[in-house]
Amino acid sequence: MTSTRVATRRTFLFASIGAVAAGAAASQAALAATGTCADLDKLAATGLRRSLNFRPVAPDPNRTCKGCTFFRAGTETCGSCVLLSGGAVSPGSVCDSWAAKAG
Ligand code: SF4
Repeated sequence: MTSTRVATRRTFLFASIGAVAAGAAASQAALAATGTCADLDKLAATGLRRSLNFRPVAPDPNRTCKGCTFFRAGTETCGSCVLLSGGAVSPGSVCDSWAAKAG
């Protein structure tokens, strides 16, 4: 095997490792942008959540994210919201765009 071929393979391997690392960093950035259920109090005061008057704890137990058409279940204590681009919401949270689930 020539040294040029070895160098080409090495370059390819390093480029592949770099691409995987960049993908992982992008995933971390996306997670940081959408937040987690541990961040709900902090996130409520930011961006779209603020515009939608997002509240981590709904004042009306009959009108919560869990009963909203935009809610997507995750774990027992944390799901996501379609309107918030998949951002974390608690089943017991709410915002002004609440819309009752059909059925
Ligand atoms: S749109 Fe629905 S699921 Fe999303 S934050 Fe508002 S009440 Fe919760």
